[in-house]
Amino acid sequence: MNENESAFKHYVCQDCYTSFSAMNAVNCAYCGGSRLEEGVGNPSQKISLVPFAYNINDAYNVFKKKFRNPLVPFAFRSKRIKKLIRKLYVPCTLYNFEVEGKVNFFGMDKVSNVQGAPAQTFESQFDTHFDFKNLLMSHFSKLSDEVLSNVNDYQFYATDGTASIIEDASLIDGDIDTKKTFAVVQQKLMNHCLNTVRGNVEHERKKLNKNEMKVNVIGKSEIYVPVYLLNIKHEGKDNLFILNGQTGEILGDPPISMVSIVIFSILVFLIIFGVAYLIATFI
Ligand SMILES: [Zn+2]
Repeated sequence: MNENESAFKHYVCQDCYTSFSAMNAVNCAYCGGSRLEEGVGNPSQKISLVPFAYNINDAYNVFKKKFRNPLVPFAFRSKRIKKLIRKLYVPCTLYNFEVEGKVNFFGMDKVSNVQGAPAQTFESQFDTHFDFKNLLMSHFSKLSDEVLSNVNDYQFYATDGTASIIEDASLIDGDIDTKKTFAVVQQKLMNHCLNTVRGNVEHERKKLNKNEMKVNVIGKSEIYVPVYLLNIKHEGKDNLFILNGQTGEILGDPPISMVSIVIFSILVFLIIFGVAYLIATFI
């Protein structure tokens, strides 16, 4: 066992129960809590990593820009937030799907062509084929938002997950059952395809008659997606900001401070009042 391997450990946070692997972690990778229970890591496991394209300074600048609004509470604008940014690898599945099969709709128009005649029902049959490439699903329940659920053409490489490659990032353990994730994505795709077909039924009223479409998995890869996470606790709430470390997509909006709104409104009132006073005095 070399030096790096001995430093690569497994942790379970006693506050939020996130489990992850990292080199000598002091704080939880998700909530920042310090009550960590230590175990032995498994650096020899084979994993596929998507590398970070942004460094911590890029991430800080992106977050800073996001919080530049004077109405955002100070906790989000303080320089201290740079220290709170955490580097994570989130376990995901990258899917390629194909949806195909026959779909049959009943269509009806409110007004019949012939006056007084009952509205006629039409039957529309479609032979479908849809391709979905690079659909990403997160297996970490605390970070399963859009940034980790949309379509991306990720570049990744295989590694044995040694500490030297993971460096200062934490490798998060998934906590969502893969079967459950699959069921969710399957349902979403089916709804999407049905809606698309429904849009092609050229009648005012449409009703699904028969659906023989099937969702087939064409390919899937288990990958770790790089994320910069900023979790700012404010008024007892977790406020999450996520920067996708490869695509640069950002998720999360800072709250607006009521105190700042009041101060801002008073300032605006004083300026208007002052200008009105000057106009009244000098004109
Ligand atoms: Zn935690």
